[in-house]
Amino acid sequence: MLNYDAVVVGAGPAGSTAARVMAAAGARVLLVERKGRVGYPVQCAGYVPALISQEVELPVAAVAQPVQTLETFFPDGSCTRTAAPGYILNREILDSALADTSIRAGAELWLRTRVIDLKGEVLVIQRGGERVAVKAGVIIGADGPLSLVARLSGWPRQPLAAAAQVEITLPESLGVTRVYFDPLYRGGYAWVFPKGETANVGVGLMPGEINPAAALAHFLRHPGWQGQRVIRRTGGLIPAGGTYSEVHRGRVLLCGDAGGFTHPVTGAGILTAILSGRLAGEAAAAYLSSGAPLSAYEESWRDLLGCTSARGQANRRRWQEEWSTGVRDLSELLHQTWLT
Ligand SMILES: Cc1cc2nc3c(=O)[nH]c(=O)nc-3n(C[C@H](O)[C@H](O)[C@H](O)COP(=O)(O)OP(=O)(O)OC[C@H]3O[C@@H](n4cnc5c(N)ncnc54)[C@H](O)[C@@H]3O)c2cc1C
Repeated sequence: MLNYDAVVVGAGPAGSTAARVMAAAGARVLLVERKGRVGYPVQCAGYVPALISQEVELPVAAVAQPVQTLETFFPDGSCTRTAAPGYILNREILDSALADTSIRAGAELWLRTRVIDLKGEVLVIQRGGERVAVKAGVIIGADGPLSLVARLSGWPRQPLAAAAQVEITLPESLGVTRVYFDPLYRGGYAWVFPKGETANVGVGLMPGEINPAAALAHFLRHPGWQGQRVIRRTGGLIPAGGTYSEVHRGRVLLCGDAGGFTHPVTGAGILTAILSGRLAGEAAAAYLSSGAPLSAYEESWRDLLGCTSARGQANRRRWQEEWSTGVRDLSELLHQTWLT
């Protein structure tokens, strides 16, 4: 049986950040990732607020396009312009840079390695053809929206939005991000996030009458997209219930999408993955070095993210209860709940 101070499951932004913090504090950290390449294939539209630069050093190549303004189009034809300085990222480059930083800090990264079971403090890990048992002082579940660590530790499944996206050529360059609401995209929206000559164009919504691929096809039927070339397709699941009421149990801490840290209304989760990963890593490092309670993580995430999370959850509940097919009623609801 192998023995580590901490095992981090998932080398996305949350897991790599938690691994870096713990390794930098002197812990023996194993970071396991089921993919063969960190961050690939990408399942993301890539917008992050400029605030990210206070948390991580963004490699120049990670920025596809800086943006300043978000234009939101409502079903009744009204439009708002909001300051939303940030970047559209090349997500794979960010994820791979974060994983590299954790390795430089001393974490060990195992790729093509999948956690398949968890029994108390022992993780069962499939590495190639081999099954390995690993004992961990702390287990960080950073394994995304369908977190196995969360499920095996007794957390219920979280509500999930589903998204479909294409990267597509742009008819002309675009200096802003755009969001479009339509009664059809129930509990969600369409987005156009520019990356120079192309854009990430997608639709995310709650499961219902129309699936995300059909909603995206509907959005792309707009004449403005005719003749544009689709470069790649992706999609995925996005937590929509907000952060779990507890993200610490025993020796397990959840961060990023695994803990529901994604914003319940916008679906943005890159920055909160990095922030919750850092906070989980700090609590685990303090526990490992001085026996400080792991529950300190509950306080630190609430201090930093609790207000935004609670407001987002309240607005998401209103979307669930009051979403309407009437353009006037829906526009009114959205003006009250979008980015408030
Ligand atoms: C289509 C789409 C568009 C999005 N657009 C944006 C956006 O523009 N801006 C934004 O902020 N957010 C966006 N998001 C959300 C954002 O991608 C996530 O919030 C973010 O990736 C969360 O990071 P994470 O580290 O928690 O999880 P992830 O990035 O999902 O990483 C989890 C990792 O765990 C690994 N893993 C899972 N299970 C196991 C296992 N059993 N064993 C080992 N490894 C495992 C996975 O392979 C994965 O690499 C979007 C999401 C989708 C689906």
